[in-house]
Amino acid sequence: MQNDIDQVLIHRADIARRVEALAKQIAEDLALASASTSSDEHDHAGRITLVPILTGSLVFVADLIRCLPVRMQVKVISISSYPGPSTTSQGPTILGGLDTLPKRLDGANVLLIDDILDTGRTLAMVIDHLKAKKPRSIHTCVMLRKQRPEEARFNADYVGFDIPNRFVVGYGLDYNGYYRNLPDIVTLRAEAIHQRRHAEAV
Ligand code: 5GP
Ligand code: MG
Repeated sequence: MQNDIDQVLIHRADIARRVEALAKQIAEDLALASASTSSDEHDHAGRITLVPILTGSLVFVADLIRCLPVRMQVKVISISSYPGPSTTSQGPTILGGLDTLPKRLDGANVLLIDDILDTGRTLAMVIDHLKAKKPRSIHTCVMLRKQRPEEARFNADYVGFDIPNRFVVGYGLDYNGYYRNLPDIVTLRAEAIHQRRHAEAV
């Protein structure tokens, strides 16, 4: 697995530092948002609901929530944009979870979390679904934002790192289901991508 790495773009130590800083900022903002509504245990007013988009945000969310000392619920949803051995987006497909979200989120402060902001289609699609549940606010947080000047930028409220427009894996991100367990965010050697693609096709 290590032999397949081309370049380490973001080292685990830099990720850890940035996640802590992001969490600090988010915790302050969330505390303000929930304090400004009277919280009632029987509805969602003032509640904080984190909605991570799996599978890519798995590691990021696990680290982030442990740096967020606020009362919150976590409701995951699952979306795939890069099915199988693809390294370009095939467009977001909802795999599950939207039906397990509460029917209504009246008054809740929702934080939607994804691994990478690329074209923004994934976040835009989920926000459309969430809006129908009438939350008080929806904010977005992504670990990585790809620099794609040609794309209309959908802006996330919280961004970990800006990265070049390259296909990356590690820290939860996969290629064809693999490499999620790499602790750094890396690019893969062309041969590794070629080999894996070929192996799947056989
Ligand atoms: P968008 O809908 O913003 O175009 O795409 C975002 C989704 O595509 C992310 O949630 C992520 O799952 C996937 N994605 C985008 N770029 C990459 C990449 O470089 N590597 C991996 N593994 N997934 C990516
Ligand atoms: Mg994703």
